[in-house]
Amino acid sequence: MKTVIMGAGAMGSLFGGLLALSGEEIWLVDIWKDHIDAICSEGLSVEDQGEIKTVQVKATTDVASLGKTDLIIFFVKTYHTEKAVRDALALQKEDTIFLTLQNGLGNEEVICQQVDRKKVLLGVTNHGATLLGPGRMRHAGQGKTSMGELNGKVTDRVTRITQMFCKAGIETRVSSSIHDLVWTKLFVNIGMNALTALTGFKNGQLLDHPETLRLMEALVSEAVEVAGRKGIGIEGNPFEKVKTVAEATRENRSSMGQDFDYKRRTEIDAINGAVVREAERFGISVPFNQAITDLVKANEKRFNF
Ligand code: NAD
Repeated sequence: MKTVIMGAGAMGSLFGGLLALSGEEIWLVDIWKDHIDAICSEGLSVEDQGEIKTVQVKATTDVASLGKTDLIIFFVKTYHTEKAVRDALALQKEDTIFLTLQNGLGNEEVICQQVDRKKVLLGVTNHGATLLGPGRMRHAGQGKTSMGELNGKVTDRVTRITQMFCKAGIETRVSSSIHDLVWTKLFVNIGMNALTALTGFKNGQLLDHPETLRLMEALVSEAVEVAGRKGIGIEGNPFEKVKTVAEATRENRSSMGQDFDYKRRTEIDAINGAVVREAERFGISVPFNQAITDLVKANEKRFNF
């Protein structure tokens, strides 16, 4: 299966590197020329639990040169999805599959604006990765990956991709309710990311103060209400789950926290901002998510991106 990964940053490089190592035909595509040049000349350096491996993987900035492709995986930040999809249209043939494993809400809709929704698969991953510099990344944490058809059917194509991932050591399963899993991960990001960005706290510190605990609970319970209206299946108690993840990752800064540290644009529009948009459709008010979205966006105006 000829596979192109749009966005060869932390996650794209991780998945691309592992799939290439297992013998798959992989192309990494990125607009960051220094990174692509480094991968082409020296290979991709993957640090995993202190061990460094160099992986030979094909990489380019010129997506149009790749010809028709069986599978396209999106690993750009959510605010770049629309442009990445437009660029990837050059790779499309009748049975090309478009898979997003990005965080947040809205990637499916953005892809489906340009691509027949029958070609689109949705997924979620709990792996963690960090870019260290051009051509160099670190696998920061293991986790499960799930993917599924938008209509919940278990098809040959989704089974085939899942098997390809498993063969590469990426533990993956097919889900017949992938939207539920996307929301499960979203609850965690909703409860932690913006709060760590605005406070400067590590994930675990959110649990140490009554103020941040109250805010976490309010943000998550608003999102749970919206998810309920959408008919999303919710397992267990999402607020308890967020607290468990915050404890398990106590010493980490969330991705949005790191975006603030480095004065980068955040994915707020796909996280708390997405809950605000969804709530509007149901005529529900979500004041905590609205306020935190506005605060993050106001802070972003100080950054030069
Ligand atoms: P990243 O910033 O490291 O990588 C994104 C890459 O996309 C960048 O290298 C950028 O140059 C490239 N890009 C932008 N526009 C492009 C285009 N038009 N064509 C090709 N490349 C383009 O981001 P990341 O941390 O790998 O995250 C990617 C997605 O995965 C995000 O939605 C994130 O929330 C999600 N995610 C990240 C992690 C993690 O641990 N890093 C874990 C799970 C999910």
